[in-house]
Amino acid sequence: MTAAGKTAAEPIYMDYGATTLVDPRVVECMLPWLAGQFGNPASGGHAFGWRAQEAVERARAQVAGLVGADPAEIVWTSGATESNNLALKGVLQHPQARGRHLVTVATEHKAVLDVAQWLQRQGCALSVLEVGPDGLLDPDRLREALRPETALVSVMLVNNEIGVVQEVEAIGAICRERGVLLHVDAAQASGKLAIDLRRLPVDLMSLTAHKTYGPKGVGALYVRRKLRVPLEAQMHGGGHERGLRSGTLPTHQCVGMGEAFALAAAEMEAECARLRMLQQRLLRGIESIGGVQLNGHRERRVPHNVNVSFEGIGAEPLLESLPGVAASSGSACNSASLEPSHVLRALGRSDELAHASLRLTMGRFTTEHEVDATVKYLQASVARLRAGQSGN
Ligand SMILES: *Cc1c(COP(=O)(O)O)cnc(C)c1O
Repeated sequence: MTAAGKTAAEPIYMDYGATTLVDPRVVECMLPWLAGQFGNPASGGHAFGWRAQEAVERARAQVAGLVGADPAEIVWTSGATESNNLALKGVLQHPQARGRHLVTVATEHKAVLDVAQWLQRQGCALSVLEVGPDGLLDPDRLREALRPETALVSVMLVNNEIGVVQEVEAIGAICRERGVLLHVDAAQASGKLAIDLRRLPVDLMSLTAHKTYGPKGVGALYVRRKLRVPLEAQMHGGGHERGLRSGTLPTHQCVGMGEAFALAAAEMEAECARLRMLQQRLLRGIESIGGVQLNGHRERRVPHNVNVSFEGIGAEPLLESLPGVAASSGSACNSASLEPSHVLRALGRSDELAHASLRLTMGRFTTEHEVDATVKYLQASVARLRAGQSGN
């Protein structure tokens, strides 16, 4: 292993859903703010601070630009986990909350589900809605779950495991009609599909840099300016970010996220068209192996995600037999435990098929050649494992 983390025979990276590399153009923009520039963006009395503040505000506008928000509606955080915490706890814990009932979905990321369960232990009422076999939430199911004391609905835009895109427009319309706030975890959506908060009825949106070619450790929460209920801050200190999130801003990180989101805005259309082709190519290749099930809706999914189950094969043996491919069984956050994926179980998959799922996520630097090589590796491994099993 070299200092850059590369081995002689580097596996094919098929795990962009876990994190992406930092685009070299983003690194370039960050460097001056690590080496040389060092001012505190909150230092209002001198040029060191002014320069840093200017860079942070430019980056804030770039982040806002990707999602059709006003820069004043962007609150910097350390990532989507923190943004989700601020959104859910911030609404439910505020003294003027409409009530103490939270509604979310069984297939959410743990950074929503764990927060929701913590709030439940603090005395909040919690409804966790089931999804259909395609991974989508039926808006009518949501309508039925709303109560007069519902303060917040939290639904992810793009699922991190199966890549399905929830019908947030319809969901938001129902929330509006009933006077309930809507939070959307969009960690997996930025740069993968167009988001326009000028027309999308969403009140809070979590964003992160490191799934969209920015650095790890920086993210944002979009907070609609006309929020009827203010948020309770979770981090108290110097009153940064309009009192919503104290702490000195990491200028280099903010600049990196801003540049990453500006690149996404400029290149998303062409990039997604290319990824859609790679996705179809990968899926055709994998399905030709036979005994394969695609997890999640076939069309309503982001262009870089393929999640499949192989009949008769566990995901762990499959990954172990695939040293040439860096992929993920379930999601990265779950792969430390041998629990079957909570997302696949929510689709009604048997534990056995849920265990056997493989998530392949492609990205900006994935080539056609890598897709073809991945299919070849998979074909060989699946054939070997299936032969081994029938021989027992
Ligand atoms: C990655 C991810 C998160 C966590 O984001 P961090 O920035 O790593 O904290 C939250 N939600 C979803 C859907 C994700 O994919």
